[in-house]
Amino acid sequence: MNMPANHGNNDTAFYIVDFDRTLADSDKLLDVFIGIAQQYISIPRERIEAANADVKARGDSFDTASYVRDHLADSGELDRWSELEKQFIHESRAFNMLLPGANELLAFLGERHERYGILTYGNPLWQHLKLTAAGFNHVHRIILAQKEKGRLVASWQRDDGLFHLPQEFGGGTAHRVVMIDDKAVSFDGFPPAPSQGFYVVDKANILPSQQGSVPSNVTHCQTLDQARAILFS
Ligand SMILES: [Mg+2]
Repeated sequence: MNMPANHGNNDTAFYIVDFDRTLADSDKLLDVFIGIAQQYISIPRERIEAANADVKARGDSFDTASYVRDHLADSGELDRWSELEKQFIHESRAFNMLLPGANELLAFLGERHERYGILTYGNPLWQHLKLTAAGFNHVHRIILAQKEKGRLVASWQRDDGLFHLPQEFGGGTAHRVVMIDDKAVSFDGFPPAPSQGFYVVDKANILPSQQGSVPSNVTHCQTLDQARAILFS
């Protein structure tokens, strides 16, 4: 268990890092999953194309994992789903599923004994599976059904001005929250300074689901390394 960093008593931070397309290569995770799932059931081509289109348009709300699991359940082969999960986790570990700068950012937070957690949006079945496949099964995480993460963060702030962190993030309080995410909508309702956001997305390759405007205390960065440099300069 990491101890909170000692910044003095009136400046404690909690770091929230997004998973899909911030820390993890979601396209690669999806490709590997589909490749393995096809060894278990035959997924119609249209289904895969629809899933891909969904990911591009809406972000990370891909539910092909549920589709595959339901398919196996319907044919009385739910034990094969556990087998598939294990194979997916095993084969994913052979790849680096993280994006450039992800390891460095988490290592930096760890070295500085900063408290952090992963806040991710999407289907819980698929999100849990991907988090495990990417090696984050021991990291504090919350899976959210709403895209507007900022509203959740704001709801933690009480009359004492402090953010009262949920148990899933280890509990305790923080004076400010720092959030790193690739989607503008994630910052909807995000609390004002001294909380701080980093909207990390390469504008040359931006997806429709990542676009939008962000509050003034949220800085756009092209890369995670850039965000880390600003944070810890
Ligand atoms: Mg994301």
